[in-house]
Amino acid sequence: MGEFDLIATIKRITAQRDPSVVIGIGDDAAVLEIPRARQLVVSMDTLHQGVHFPANTLPEDLGWKALAVNLSDLAAMGAKPAWTTLSLSSPKLEPAWLKRFLAGFNQLAKRHDVALVGGDTTRGPLSITIQAHGFVARGKAISRGGAQIGDLIYVSGDLGDASAALRFLKNPSRKIERAVFTRLKQRLDRPQPRIALGMGLAGYASSMIDVSDGLAQDLGHILAQSELGADIEASRLPTSKPLLAAILDAPHRWPLQLTGGDDYELCFTAAPRHQTQITQLAKRLKTQLTCIGQITKRRGLRIYDDGGKTIALKRTGYRHF
Ligand code: ADP
Ligand code: MG
Repeated sequence: MGEFDLIATIKRITAQRDPSVVIGIGDDAAVLEIPRARQLVVSMDTLHQGVHFPANTLPEDLGWKALAVNLSDLAAMGAKPAWTTLSLSSPKLEPAWLKRFLAGFNQLAKRHDVALVGGDTTRGPLSITIQAHGFVARGKAISRGGAQIGDLIYVSGDLGDASAALRFLKNPSRKIERAVFTRLKQRLDRPQPRIALGMGLAGYASSMIDVSDGLAQDLGHILAQSELGADIEASRLPTSKPLLAAILDAPHRWPLQLTGGDDYELCFTAAPRHQTQITQLAKRLKTQLTCIGQITKRRGLRIYDDGGKTIALKRTGYRHF
């Protein structure tokens, strides 16, 4: 398959009618219609083999995940996704691999109604870069810097499943029940970007971030940009049944849940007066939201165990450099 056949295949497989796409794949650049009174929200993420995903990751999971991590960033701004571009670098062009990759990509793209409008295709080590574009109502993006003293800190879903799966993948000698592992691995391979939640939090959340590199580190970004601190309780960290089954001992689970990353859940802060609306939003979206602590004037992140002692972490999360 040559480069141009490959682009034609991508165009055919991802084709969908979208009136906002005036010119899509196949020209020198895409031409897109921006709705009135909206601001454009743009994010980009690269996935390298060996760094962001193990070499034996299935192509369909990779297609899903590459898009999911980008949509998660839009979700964390409170944005509604619209378009994506895809830069694909691969040592060889295998039609079967590409079709499976695009099948996973498409599955998620259709779910959130995002159109692939362009990209780039090059030879090189396997690496995928996606840029996602979305919209917020003017002035309504939810940044990392808006937390206020006394705000409650929430996280969506459960934390630690994906990093637990990765740990068991890396140490095959560790004992784990097959069914439990499968459920944890699903969280690693198929993260669910919290788009509806991010959009629904407009007017309630004072700050927000997606948990991609570990809660302690990502919440740390909110604290740094808001110039405040936080107290959180480890025993309140939302924990799935499979994670409970895989790692019984809470003090062994907590570091994974606090620093593991790859959760793609949302962490946000909100004034206590919004508690009722937030509970209602969680119910309407059937999304678990857990309050894990509170924003403080005193800088720094303090994490308490059941006995009220602070937990010291060896590291706060994933860092490339
Ligand atoms: P140019 O050399 O002018 O940059 P390309 O050959 O790179 O053109 O791209 C031709 C068209 O195909 C463009 O519309 C581009 O956006 C699209 N395209 C190339 N690679 C991809 C890809 N991996 N996914 C989606 N669209 C792509
Ligand atoms: Mg190009």
